[in-house]
Amino acid sequence: MRYVSTRGDNLNDSKSFEYVLLAGLARDGGLFVPASWPAPFSESELVEMASLSYADLAIRLTQPFIGDAVAPADLARIAHETYAGFEHPATAPLTQLGPSFWLMELYHGPTLAFKDYALQFLGRLFDHVVARRGERLTIVGATSGDTGSAAIEACRGRDALSIVILYPEGRVSEVQRRQMTTVDEANVHNVAVAGTFDDCQAMVKGMFNDLAFRDELNLAAINSINWARILAQTVYYAYAALALGSPARPVTFAVPTGNFGNVYSGYLATRLGLPIRHLMVATNANDILARFFNGAGYYKSDVVASISPSMDIQIASNFERLVFELQGRDSAAVRALIDSLDRDSGFEIAADKLELARRLFSGQRVDDARAFECMARVWRECGTLIDPHSAAGVAAAEDALAQQETGAEQSAMICLATAHPAKFPDAVEQATAIRPALPDRLADLLQRPEHVTHLPNDLAAVKEFVQACARDAQGGKAA
Ligand SMILES: *Cc1c(COP(=O)(O)O)cnc(C)c1O
Repeated sequence: MRYVSTRGDNLNDSKSFEYVLLAGLARDGGLFVPASWPAPFSESELVEMASLSYADLAIRLTQPFIGDAVAPADLARIAHETYAGFEHPATAPLTQLGPSFWLMELYHGPTLAFKDYALQFLGRLFDHVVARRGERLTIVGATSGDTGSAAIEACRGRDALSIVILYPEGRVSEVQRRQMTTVDEANVHNVAVAGTFDDCQAMVKGMFNDLAFRDELNLAAINSINWARILAQTVYYAYAALALGSPARPVTFAVPTGNFGNVYSGYLATRLGLPIRHLMVATNANDILARFFNGAGYYKSDVVASISPSMDIQIASNFERLVFELQGRDSAAVRALIDSLDRDSGFEIAADKLELARRLFSGQRVDDARAFECMARVWRECGTLIDPHSAAGVAAAEDALAQQETGAEQSAMICLATAHPAKFPDAVEQATAIRPALPDRLADLLQRPEHVTHLPNDLAAVKEFVQACARDAQGGKAA
């Protein structure tokens, strides 16, 4: 399979999977998408997939997108190694919360958030491909909390990789911060930036857009803009749908959303032929996407801090991939819209295109008060603790079902639980009076020493630091 950029001048200028994996962001600033969509799987193919293990399903679904970039035997080994490290035998288990209403627990990986499902796979893919090329990579990423620890966990101790993670100082939870800063491998570098997540993300983009810098350091991205992450996340959509009776039974997903990466993977699942009736885009008070799907255009506003910090995002980077489809894959039109987002405060798309989007997607804003109420109710009525991010999805699903607006009531509802409740113990305790405990393997997290560098919200200073990390790694290798 070949890939093109959402901002590409020439859609015939396509790239390989290996290129897309290592580059992350296209050189024109766009995001990679398949040059054309593969034919969806047939109903009988889907029926056969229902009996596969999580790892085998991952191989089956990702192979067509990876092609010959990774040999089949290597892909099989990587997938099995990746998901063997997850704690629950079902990998992504479903818990029933109501009639035809399910929670998919995506927090059984090493850092207790859904990002492990893709990043554990991505880290191994990077390692495999880079080792084969005899190169080194400098991975840079911005995190609003969970990406950073999941990326670090995926890269720690791997010889060919250095990783630098930027996070907004004071805006990630203590558990999230410590999951990053307590890793003491020499190839791991944490940077606390005096700014917001959007500032951190803008600096990562700034580093990638400096092509000389990017080439010199062999930069690679691990943020959710990386196509391989999108691809790997599609597996749990298919796994849950098949477990609940697809293709015969249609499903709806409610997805706690920040950067639009997770829910875009649900979109990819629809392109693979899974009977997904609806995708609910649940936001917190940072509701740019909810406003968009409700017809108010895509306009930035200030980021406000919420109890679901991993969703405290105003510019949803992966949204550009959907915009590309809605614009009929017209990259000039995408460039014009992104331009007005950068220059002014946002953009609108034509009513017919919005209508098209609304056939599959809807946007729901869930503020903190509603999320608290939801965490309390789910605990009281079902005996299940959910974290504040997951509560946004569950509350959005409850509200949509109550209003019977989206057609979701005709399908099995699956809410994605994106983090373990113990990652956000304060909010969970406030809602339920129960303080969730960390799993045993993380029990001493609060006692481990931290390693972090504090930097101003200044691209030049951050670049200098990244350069120094890469130089040290080279030197370390030579010595
Ligand atoms: C990253 C994250 C999200 C948002 O996911 P996107 O792919 O950015 O939309 C939601 N919940 C949790 C717990 C996260 O870590």
